[in-house]
Amino acid sequence: MSGPKRQKTAHDAPAKRQNEEAEDSASQSSHDAHTEEESATLDVASTADATEAPEEPKTFKELGIVDSLCEACESLNYKRPTAIQAKAIPVALQGRDVIGLAETGSGKTAAFALPILQALLEKPQPLFGLVLAPTRELAAQIGQSFEALGALISLRCAVIVGGLDMVPQAIALGKKPHIIVATPGRLVDHLEKTKGFSLRSLKYLVMDEADRLLDMDFGPSIDKILKFIPRERRTYLFSATLSSKVESLQRASLRDPVRVSVSSSKYQTVSTLLQHYILVPHKRKDTYLIYLVNEFAGKSIIIFTRTVFETQRIAILLRTLGFGAIPLHGQLSQSSRLGALNKFKGGSREILVATDVAARGLDIPAVDVVLNLDLPQDSKTYIHRVGRTARAGKSGIAINIVTQYDVEIYQRIEAALGKKLDAYPTEKEEVMAFQSRVEEAQREARIEMKAFLENKGKGKGKGKAKAGGSKRRRDNMDEEEG
Ligand code: AMP
Repeated sequence: MSGPKRQKTAHDAPAKRQNEEAEDSASQSSHDAHTEEESATLDVASTADATEAPEEPKTFKELGIVDSLCEACESLNYKRPTAIQAKAIPVALQGRDVIGLAETGSGKTAAFALPILQALLEKPQPLFGLVLAPTRELAAQIGQSFEALGALISLRCAVIVGGLDMVPQAIALGKKPHIIVATPGRLVDHLEKTKGFSLRSLKYLVMDEADRLLDMDFGPSIDKILKFIPRERRTYLFSATLSSKVESLQRASLRDPVRVSVSSSKYQTVSTLLQHYILVPHKRKDTYLIYLVNEFAGKSIIIFTRTVFETQRIAILLRTLGFGAIPLHGQLSQSSRLGALNKFKGGSREILVATDVAARGLDIPAVDVVLNLDLPQDSKTYIHRVGRTARAGKSGIAINIVTQYDVEIYQRIEAALGKKLDAYPTEKEEVMAFQSRVEEAQREARIEMKAFLENKGKGKGKGKAKAGGSKRRRDNMDEEEG
């Protein structure tokens, strides 16, 4: 990492900003080439799994973290830096922009939070750092991590997300927090409407789960935010995957970044994860699902579905059959979502039925089983879903329910994984033994769903309730983020 570049500090004002946010891609191309070339030479990627210790285990102190923050790590029982922390922290402490290729669960939050807190300690000031996250839950989690790590240094942190009243948020911003963790849409609202709120003094920007931010069409909001904040800043971009959109964002917003990575393959899964498929007739999906849930009774399970409607229906189906299931999707209120998550985390419900809003960013420890009732539309989402299990060296199992209509999409996933998965062994008779009870529960679920949709229909125009339309409309109900 000892390239020809001058080492900068967080408060260093370089003579010329080479990378103008507003520049169009054509005028940027020569700079891009330069940046890419440099990233390549500075790339410290390894094939190590994120949860494995780096080759030469170091302490936070050896990475350059000051005593008060080392103490904070100790109090959180962070005994040793994770791989992404060992790679990203020294680079960040040198004052470089960082691209971190790492998933949630790798310890990436502390990888960006510690250098920011250390710089803040050196030169305390309000509105010092901004973290952009794609979902409200992830933003809440990052806020909690900052508060935990900053507990000994009286850190003020505000979480600014959609779906909540803007007034208390405006008051929180008025108190000039050191760190703001926000979803982009709501932050833009405040930048445009909240009197006296500005990010002109900002020193650090983090874009977390950048691939997801861009997949969720937060690009325009991010562009706006980039115009509101100073160009003289440090920027950290974290992403599980490096798509072309992420690369463009990187070019538009980072300067001479160093890339640190903890996985070699774009679609790598950990070796402790067992993955299977199970081929089922479309009309028997529910029956196979109940069979599987019964097989894994007592374990913590996430069932992924494609739509809000299915999430709700499957949760009802499971409950009717006596399983502790809870739905999580983007059309629930913020408090219901956090409540659902807490019930699942706390173990009072062992099955979470979720749309992809739950696939990313949520720190749900010890999930034993991921069931893909509906296959995800792309391989990247698949990786994020199955990444909810087999974390931190634990084993886990993911089972894909594949119907006659999903063969093509399933083959794409296998191709991205670079391997063929084994069929999950089942006996048809054993599965069909559940059929009549499932049919009964399906009837019950239909009735409850009708009531659910009618209620939602009445709530139309209020908040995000959008159900109650045609069948096609209902089937397409999907989560939204703000
Ligand atoms: P993250 O990838 O940031 O969501 O972190 C995943 C989980 O790992 C969180 O529960 C963190 O509190 C935890 N964690 C982060 N860093 C460490 C560390 N160095 N040692 C042990 N646990 C950690």
